[in-house]
Amino acid sequence: MCGIVGYVGNKEALPILIKGLKRLEYRGYDSAGIALINGGLNVYKNKGKVADLEAILSEKDTSGDVGIAHTRWATHGEPTAINAHPHYSESKDIAIIHNGIIENYSSLKEELINRGYKFNSDTDTEVLVYLIEDIQKNEGVKLFEATRIALNQVIGAYAIVLISSKEPDLLVAARKGSPLVIGIGNNDYYIASDASPIIDYTRNVVYLKEEEVALVRRNRELQIKTIKNKVKTPYIQKLEISLSTIEKGGFEHFMLKEIYEQPRSIRDSFRGRLNLEKGIVSLGGIIDYEQKLINAKRILIVACGTSWHAGLVGEYLFEDLARIPVEVEYASEFRYRNPVITEDDIVIAISQSGETADTLAAINLAKSKGATILGICNVVGSSIARATHAGVYTHAGPEIGVASTKAFTAQVTVLTLMALAIAQKKGSISQSRFQNLIYELDAVPEKVEQTLQESQQIVEIAEKLKDVRNFLYLGRGYNFPIALEGALKLKEISYIHAEGYPAAEMKHGPIALIDELMPVVFIATNKGTYEKVISNIMEVKARKGQIIAIVTEGDVAVKKLAKYIIEIPECDELLVPLLAIIPLQKLSYHIAAMRGCNVDQPRNLAKSVTVE
Ligand code: GLU
Repeated sequence: MCGIVGYVGNKEALPILIKGLKRLEYRGYDSAGIALINGGLNVYKNKGKVADLEAILSEKDTSGDVGIAHTRWATHGEPTAINAHPHYSESKDIAIIHNGIIENYSSLKEELINRGYKFNSDTDTEVLVYLIEDIQKNEGVKLFEATRIALNQVIGAYAIVLISSKEPDLLVAARKGSPLVIGIGNNDYYIASDASPIIDYTRNVVYLKEEEVALVRRNRELQIKTIKNKVKTPYIQKLEISLSTIEKGGFEHFMLKEIYEQPRSIRDSFRGRLNLEKGIVSLGGIIDYEQKLINAKRILIVACGTSWHAGLVGEYLFEDLARIPVEVEYASEFRYRNPVITEDDIVIAISQSGETADTLAAINLAKSKGATILGICNVVGSSIARATHAGVYTHAGPEIGVASTKAFTAQVTVLTLMALAIAQKKGSISQSRFQNLIYELDAVPEKVEQTLQESQQIVEIAEKLKDVRNFLYLGRGYNFPIALEGALKLKEISYIHAEGYPAAEMKHGPIALIDELMPVVFIATNKGTYEKVISNIMEVKARKGQIIAIVTEGDVAVKKLAKYIIEIPECDELLVPLLAIIPLQKLSYHIAAMRGCNVDQPRNLAKSVTVE
């Protein structure tokens, strides 16, 4: 998920690697490390910034013309020097850097432990380099071949680069799910997770494709094979974009990039947890608390902002599937309200950064009353992750845009997994319904991808409505939290006043606001209270409000009433939030961009709210 840099050639590697890591700093990371061949294979790594790593290196002999470097954004194991990359193989002859998640790392690790291997870190990455070395020894093959063979056993996502003291003139690189690009210089090569560390040296690049392994040798031609051993001809492209465009993945803003990352980030949040073949959902992080959840008389969800909206979706899911009563609390209110909390309560705290001050205080309060606290955070090793008894990481990857997008859908995905796992174990869901839902969840990333393709219509709506002063967002059931989140997104980045409401509540107040100038966004998908929502749409139409409706593909009834329609694919009612929020994120984005707002850093807002 974070940064990779590699170099092999005739120049000093270190300055290239350090400059490359600095170019990748924009992504956010928690630790950094480097491996160089000079004499032997030497690894230097540290928790903290690239500048801290540089300070360590200043006292060492760092000459050498082949090396790899990494900025880590922890997914497996806390951000510590030991868990930082590169990771040595058992013999210390090989080192690896890795972006992504090895889904089946625990079974591979167990197998290797049974064969006598001892591991140093908690990472999934170290398992892979041990496996590669094990294959190398057993099969008597070189690093390139051993890596190719090993990757056939790997389930998950990876961009990796390996270096070996036994083969000091080369690097081996491979990818699946995470990007990797190779820059072709003059008899030398640059490897990186995006082109920003490469652009100063060469414009000729090869983007590795899914499941391709590259043999990158100084003074030799680049060789590429698939992991299934099919030889590929490298396709050399010319880089023609600017540095800032590369950083933003070709998008205008980080927020837009993150919106478009959601098919991948949602998949990453259920990676290794959803097993379709076995028909199970397993959440390693909370396994010891599963029985407590099954027996829970009540769940309290504490959160702030967007995470609070995810919590509301969680409430519907837990009540629907696991039949456990849920209360969703604003952390800031909860902590000062003298709430009734008992030892039987389970508190789920949700926070992207894991540093939200109010949520942390709410956790401490609940803890002092003896409740069991579970966390849902994006940042591994964050304060909330440490303060909770157990938890589930969302694995959405670093989120740079202040307005949360992919972290929200990852939180909702994790809550869905939790509710499903508990429901199945508790027996509150039939096996066929469970099976159906896990297949539906597995199909969500593809449907999000489809939803993202709809752009023209959203741009046109944004163009028409960008200058209005107020917006109303309405939804019922699972779409009510989405109405709240849609409204929050708009106000956060465009500074247009927007309110989310349960659609039926509208007539108890907000209906007074409706006239021909008021845009009203309805989330009117075809399940649950669809007919009721149509009645609410009629009420708005009768008062000449401008209706924008998010509907299910093929909708007929709402189409006749709404001024603007945005379609999303058919899916189970429980999973609609994951799709319905996508066009609302995009609508907010386009309106804000057209108004010339600072989309990634909206005024007065901070990414991680560490004050109460
Ligand atoms: N899963 C790996 C780890 O936790 C890689 C993380 C990354 O992509 O930075 O170490």
